[in-house]
Amino acid sequence: MKAVLFESFAQTPRIATLPDPTPVNHGVVIKVQATGVCRSDWHGWMGHDPDIQLPHVPGHELAGTVEAIGKDVQRWKIGDRVTVPFVGGCGTCPECHAGHQQVCHNQFQPGFTHWGSFAEFVAIDQADLNLVALPETMDFVTAASLGCRFATSFRAVVDQGRVSAGQWVSVHGCGGVGLSAIMIADALGANVVAVDIADDKLELACRLGATKAINATKVPSVAEAIFDLTNGGAHLSIDALGHPETCFNSIVCLRRRGRHVQVGLMLAEHSTPQVPMARIIAHELELLGSHGMQAHRYDAMLAMVQSGKLAPDQLVGREISLEESIHALMEMNRFQSVGATVISRF
Ligand SMILES: [Zn+2]
Ligand SMILES: [Zn+2]
Repeated sequence: MKAVLFESFAQTPRIATLPDPTPVNHGVVIKVQATGVCRSDWHGWMGHDPDIQLPHVPGHELAGTVEAIGKDVQRWKIGDRVTVPFVGGCGTCPECHAGHQQVCHNQFQPGFTHWGSFAEFVAIDQADLNLVALPETMDFVTAASLGCRFATSFRAVVDQGRVSAGQWVSVHGCGGVGLSAIMIADALGANVVAVDIADDKLELACRLGATKAINATKVPSVAEAIFDLTNGGAHLSIDALGHPETCFNSIVCLRRRGRHVQVGLMLAEHSTPQVPMARIIAHELELLGSHGMQAHRYDAMLAMVQSGKLAPDQLVGREISLEESIHALMEMNRFQSVGATVISRF
């Protein structure tokens, strides 16, 4: 098969011809029809993820058709249209038994723990547990945009954030995660304040459901601006970027008993950000992480997509070829495009 391969970290990957994968007994091989390019792939390529062993094929936001099936797989057949969460469960650890596959003790992460989907084919373990059937009406490019940023945002807003109608939600960073969170929070009846440093992203945020927008470079204090707009602070705030400054702002803009959800990754030199613990105690703030979303929770998200309440296709930006993904991957940290970049030609 044709795939993007890197043999050392932070060095230009190449297009390689590799053996086609074969499924393990409980796994499948998926013919990749579309796969997103994500900042997590950039982190992996830079060597920030200890799970990655070289040489490596990146890619975790995939959709495609089942190409081959292991002998123990019961729920899937060849040709099924599927996607996967970026964290797959092992099916046997206590968290998997409790239904929390997104924090499984023995995670299967295509593009991190295993070779990923910047390739014609990708093998996925524990297929009965980890695959999600796509609605017939959903195209592969849109489906590929669900698995990481959109699903993570859904969990952050709905399951971790526990948002309810009429609450104020602030979203710090209007990249893929942030825009997804804005669309989802708006659909659930919340009032959303979008924060970014780029006016074009804030305009898109408002088109996708934000009620108010703050350009962080144009106000003396983001937190004070949010307090003013929300009459006392956000009920729920999300750091969708993953930076010490947005993390801090997201916590200090909360009203009392508010909830901060950290979605943007904090790796390398950002892994231990400053946290205002005195405020967290005095105001009884909640700090939560959000790490993908388990396959069995896709039902709720897909139902909202099918009913038209959520339109993830609006978050898709450029479609590119596998060859073009090398440049896109290497530029991911420097140049954050408006809308997700998806590989759809292999
Ligand atoms: Zn991703
Ligand atoms: Zn597990």
